[in-house]
Amino acid sequence: MHLERAADGEKLAPIRRSLVLRQFRRLGNVPSAPDHDRVAALDSRALQVGVGDVARQDPESETSLVRPPLGAHRAAFAASERVELGRPLHGRIILGAMPETPEQFWERVHDSLQAPPVHEWDTWPFDGPVQPRPLAPPVEREKPRHGEGGVDCHACAAPDDAYVWTNESWRLRPLAKPSGLPVVVLLEPREHFSAPGDLPEALAAELGVLICRIERAVRSVEGVGLVHVLRYGEGGEHLHIWFMGRTARMEQLRSSFAAIWDDVLPPTPEDVWRENLDLVVTALGD
Ligand SMILES: [Zn+2]
Repeated sequence: MHLERAADGEKLAPIRRSLVLRQFRRLGNVPSAPDHDRVAALDSRALQVGVGDVARQDPESETSLVRPPLGAHRAAFAASERVELGRPLHGRIILGAMPETPEQFWERVHDSLQAPPVHEWDTWPFDGPVQPRPLAPPVEREKPRHGEGGVDCHACAAPDDAYVWTNESWRLRPLAKPSGLPVVVLLEPREHFSAPGDLPEALAAELGVLICRIERAVRSVEGVGLVHVLRYGEGGEHLHIWFMGRTARMEQLRSSFAAIWDDVLPPTPEDVWRENLDLVVTALGD
């Protein structure tokens, strides 16, 4: 199914995200700040960069699996260190220069790719060292996403019975078939919107409430330890928010590689999968 294939492709994104984080960690080899010593004591320009970096990284859960743990204060110190060292990358940003173009970005990084020791990380699903792929230069134009502008959009065309829960403006669908994690569902607006930032304010407000309700409903399924809430949007344009419930007490399934484990693990048995979806819908209510 096209939508599902596109969605699978999106799952690669957490890897890149984590690689960035690990690079960040390398720079962060500085003593921990005392817990009470929050970022307030730091150079304000460093703070700006540090917080900006960390805000996208979910510092607590993402980094709790990395040795040594990287707290927000440590990340901020890492940024401070980079300022002091005057490293070209962040120095330019801090000094207020223009952001990099994709071409500038590629020129800077493509000969300097790193191979972080992912095979040593508890959550990495595979054994053996890894080798970064050569980084292709930026393309002239990104390949179109499925259903751009709502044209031939599967989500727009799908009937309500393809979903496990609907209301006037939103619909919640499962994957087309069971996957490795016990519960994976996606929330979509009925109307075609590309990004959260495109939603009218009333719908945006509903989305906020619904994310919390659905997360709570997925979390209520017995055996689910934690629910990852994600939006990539790289495969299909029609806005969809992922809810990935990972199995409780499975330490290797924590954090962003859960999306990879979802494909590595054998599918959840069909009857268990359906029961889990029923439990989500029941918990969700009307
Ligand atoms: Zn659509």
